[in-house]
Amino acid sequence: MNWLTNFVRPKLRALVARKETPETLWLKCPKCEQMLFMRDWEANQEVCTHCGHHMRIRPLKRLPHLFDEGKYELHPLPRVPADPLRFRDTERYDARLKRAQAKAEGSTDALIVASGLMGSRMTVIAALDFGFMGGSMGTAVGEGLVMAADLAVARKAPLIVFSASGGARMQEGILSLMQLTRTTIAVRKVKEAGLPYIVVLTDPTTGGVSASFAMLGDIHLAEPDAIIGFAGPRVIQDTIRQELPEGFQRSEYLLEHGMVDAVVHRHKLRDTLIRVVTLLMDPLVVANAPAVAGR
Ligand SMILES: [Zn+2]
Repeated sequence: MNWLTNFVRPKLRALVARKETPETLWLKCPKCEQMLFMRDWEANQEVCTHCGHHMRIRPLKRLPHLFDEGKYELHPLPRVPADPLRFRDTERYDARLKRAQAKAEGSTDALIVASGLMGSRMTVIAALDFGFMGGSMGTAVGEGLVMAADLAVARKAPLIVFSASGGARMQEGILSLMQLTRTTIAVRKVKEAGLPYIVVLTDPTTGGVSASFAMLGDIHLAEPDAIIGFAGPRVIQDTIRQELPEGFQRSEYLLEHGMVDAVVHRHKLRDTLIRVVTLLMDPLVVANAPAVAGR
């Protein structure tokens, strides 16, 4: 300890820290690196106004653009044991969870369940929140999806899922993996009731979520350029010892190879979803569609 470490270093740190004050008016597009005015970018549903790059949008920002007049009802997730394994890595799991909840504007885990009218039809939407611990699926997300499925069946409504996840919640171990089966059964309930189950794959949809309810849709839509897959490309490349093709695990590649039905711009998602649900629930209305202007 000397004059340099005790006096000069803190002064230098303070100087650097001051420069790092977050700039909230502007942000840089990670794709084209253009500066975007925050307000324009938010009004554009967090799509780059220069190159059209779709950034990861949190569910509470997305939902108003989907429901009629932006009105919907939020359904709190069922209560589950907070830290069943008393897990600790670099930090205690319950502390990590509390920190994520504090930043999540009222939601308790990585899933938001909402219902409301979409195209004048009661619709249930369950949207994963990548901003909440990487959209990882633990017991709360599993319970939430079961609740969303039950709600859809009770209200005779289609269930639409927006997926965005890094996979299973490691801190919940086997309990997290059990959600793969539970969510699969939940989806099945919706299908057995004869109701549409539609998945919108957004960036990124990987791991346990892509290995369960995110790949079971009657129809799969995807946002442009989203990463969709199970294991990451580096793991696959190291396992099969082959170069992966260009665009591997991206929406457009999956569309070409039949895993996705359509790649849809975020601005067109609402209209597309309304049309798809109408096709599945009232095919006669769509058959007569030429008579309706704008269809
Ligand atoms: Zn851009």
